[in-house]
Amino acid sequence: MPEQNTHDIFVIGGGINGCGIARDAVGRGYSVALAEMNDFASGTSSGATKLIHGGLRYLEHYEFRLVRESLMEREVLWAMAPHIIWPMRFVLPFHKGGIRPAWLIRLGLFLYDHIGGRKLLPATRTLDMRRDPAAKPLKALFTKAFEYSDGWVDDARMVVLNARDAANRGATIMSRSRVTSARRENGLWKIDVQDKATGTMQSFRARMLINAAGPWVDVVLSNTFGKNQVHNVRLVQGSHIVVKKKFDDPRAYFFQNPDGRIIFAIPYETDYTLIGTTDRDYTEDPKNIRITEEEINYLCDAASEYFAEPVTPDDIVWTYSGARPLFDDGATKAQEATRDYVLKVEGEPGEPPLLNVFGGKLTTYRRLGEHALEKIAESIGEKGAPWTAKSKLPGGDFPATGYEAEVAKLKSGFAFLSERHARRLVRLYGTLATALLGSATTTADLGRNFGSDLYEVEVQWLMAQEWARHADDILWRRTKLGLKLTPAEADGLEDYMRETIRNVA
Ligand SMILES: Cc1cc2nc3c(=O)[nH]c(=O)nc-3n(C[C@H](O)[C@H](O)[C@H](O)COP(=O)(O)OP(=O)(O)OC[C@H]3O[C@@H](n4cnc5c(N)ncnc54)[C@H](O)[C@@H]3O)c2cc1C
Repeated sequence: MPEQNTHDIFVIGGGINGCGIARDAVGRGYSVALAEMNDFASGTSSGATKLIHGGLRYLEHYEFRLVRESLMEREVLWAMAPHIIWPMRFVLPFHKGGIRPAWLIRLGLFLYDHIGGRKLLPATRTLDMRRDPAAKPLKALFTKAFEYSDGWVDDARMVVLNARDAANRGATIMSRSRVTSARRENGLWKIDVQDKATGTMQSFRARMLINAAGPWVDVVLSNTFGKNQVHNVRLVQGSHIVVKKKFDDPRAYFFQNPDGRIIFAIPYETDYTLIGTTDRDYTEDPKNIRITEEEINYLCDAASEYFAEPVTPDDIVWTYSGARPLFDDGATKAQEATRDYVLKVEGEPGEPPLLNVFGGKLTTYRRLGEHALEKIAESIGEKGAPWTAKSKLPGGDFPATGYEAEVAKLKSGFAFLSERHARRLVRLYGTLATALLGSATTTADLGRNFGSDLYEVEVQWLMAQEWARHADDILWRRTKLGLKLTPAEADGLEDYMRETIRNVA
């Protein structure tokens, strides 16, 4: 079995936490390798509600540390990647006799506004729902609403941009590479990795191993390390439905359900509304996670309590589900389990250490990375200093409020682009949209069209720069054009990508 160089750190898992730790570590001067068994963000990190948020609801569970850290991260992450992260206003309709009293919501929003380092995000305000346009798509039940700020993120792109940046800084980043075993040998970790496409095996050595396998963190501990009786995380399924646009307002809605839970209805991908999420314990293999009929009915019923025009299963154009890998703190109800993360180092003195990552949110991934780097420094010696707070993810090197200016710039350089196409490219690639389009001066220069506004230049870019290997990587993670392409068009893309890979091999 061919053996690679020894690295300081080897990371198992290419979700947001693994990629975030790898990027931070390589930027501080450690040598880093990362293996992801499928595509980047193919686990939980593409199954989220996609909010960069403090988590208003977590205040009810007294998770002040987590809420404060998350609130502080909103503007840090927005500045790091203003193409894929942007502010969003949330409307929380209120009616007398509702599940939470107005004073409690006002107190929560007061804390929200004041404990989280808010500088650019606008503060909370009260809406008169007899006049505000936010009332338009809703039943005429509400005289009042609260409107507050949080952020939105393209979750899967945040993962791949962390992977890209880590690779740009010198990390070895591998997708479709499964870690099959890891053991301590002669004072180092020996890690066996299988290439899923070819079946070939490779060995790596590392001074420290990071288990960032998300919902598989316990599976990795039992299968890869051969441990018995592992139970650190509780898997909690959350599902979303996507329906044709229910409202024109750019604001999202925060609906409270009679069961104490909440759901969001969010403007999504220009033409759609995203509704979610559910919260139910999940015990099967996370790779098979799918929405259940019960969850579909729950989400439709919950949204129909608020929207004047009901949401029905027939309105659904897409669904997705993810398993939250929550640290098991013994809570009885799924929605009460802590959303905070826990980092645990294993290993006797003198042995190469293992760091297990339990839990964590998209919002806190950068801070989780910094905490992981503290553990790494304690275990194998310190290198570098924290640096990611003021960094930029690839394509994000423009001002936080500069999206419109970037769109105007791209249109002036590539006048043949439609408004919609230019806006989509800046959202996904930021300043790198120019490099992606290269010397194109006409639509014909973009190459083959695969459906909607997906052209060959973008597919080539995603294969060369972002590890895309299959149509699904592009249609459901690097972009959301899966919502637009027909099954025949998706097959055409898959055939093209397979052929391209064959020609390169
Ligand atoms: C329904 C839902 C809604 C959410 N909403 C939000 C939200 O709005 N805001 C927010 O901040 N957070 C949200 N979260 C939380 C957030 O999505 C997750 O906490 C986060 O994505 C977890 O990332 P991760 O890297 O730990 O796990 P993952 O993304 O699952 O990554 C783990 C990776 O490890 C890989 N892997 C496993 N075993 C191996 C192996 N042997 N070899 C190689 N690779 C392996 C897997 O393939 C996987 O890609 C939500 C989660 C869910 C489920």
